[in-house]
Amino acid sequence: MIASTVRLMVGCFDMRALSPARRKGHDGAVPEGDSVWKAARRMAAALVGRTVTGSDFRVPQHATADLSGRQVLAFESIGKHMLTRFSGGLTLHTHFEMDGAWQLVGAGKRLPSAFDDEVRLVLSTDGPTAYALRMPVLELVETAREDEVVGHLGPDLLGPGWDEPEAVRRLSADPDRPLVEAILDQKNLAGIGNLWAVETCYLRGVSPWTPVRDVDLPALVRLARRMLKHSIEHPGQVTTGDTRRGQTHWVYGRAERPCRRCGTPVGFRDSNGLPYGRQTWWCPSCQPGPFPSLAERPTRAGLRRGVNEESFGSRSRRLRGSTGLSRG
Ligand SMILES: [Zn+2]
Repeated sequence: MIASTVRLMVGCFDMRALSPARRKGHDGAVPEGDSVWKAARRMAAALVGRTVTGSDFRVPQHATADLSGRQVLAFESIGKHMLTRFSGGLTLHTHFEMDGAWQLVGAGKRLPSAFDDEVRLVLSTDGPTAYALRMPVLELVETAREDEVVGHLGPDLLGPGWDEPEAVRRLSADPDRPLVEAILDQKNLAGIGNLWAVETCYLRGVSPWTPVRDVDLPALVRLARRMLKHSIEHPGQVTTGDTRRGQTHWVYGRAERPCRRCGTPVGFRDSNGLPYGRQTWWCPSCQPGPFPSLAERPTRAGLRRGVNEESFGSRSRRLRGSTGLSRG
């Protein structure tokens, strides 16, 4: 749903982005570096230069904050973080995590009240009004102290100061760490979310749980950057080159569906108990290497949640690769 989550509408509402019922499972996407990058540009196009006429913070720590009278200066994305800078040396830091979103509506309009529960901030300006929805992190910091909220991040794959050797150095620092966990860790490099993580592992032909010491990290990082850069120039988040619904990804959201290359049912690992807390998909044939054992086999409910790109057409089929024979 990423395309709709961060789609910033002016003057009309994108109900798919707003409705909780549609949040999960639409297009199988979540906010990642490329989508936050796009959101920052769209927000900038609509709001930079505008003057804030009112701010309604619905988070306890800033309940009394008032940005009225400040000018909107800039939007910057760093990984999945966004910095909104205002005159007077103040920055709003937001982090999208799994399903945060900014929604813009035209002057004089407002979001339907049915979505009030999801609103964390209403930022009114002399132009459009911006709503921060479901944003798990929303805080004000002095612009001079932005490092305190984003300084821990590794090189930003889409940032002007991208530093590949530094990203590889950070990834290599813990050589036994499973690859998918290492590349999701934003302290190593910023911008890879779950979609890009599992698709990158697939395209490099390695199990997501391969120790990083056994991975060609420069090649992997270069591929991830190439995909993210391609994504910011094209709609949606397509890794297969095929934009038709249900064809956009290799393994992400495709539990038990046939691998597009070899036909093996795509494996799925629920997030329960994984230190990086994300669902993982992979092709056991195209991506040799270690994988979770039978004891950690996902539940039926977990499987259902794992199928969010295509209809669930093979419930009774057992996941190949969940045989308990951990390879590698
Ligand atoms: Zn395969």
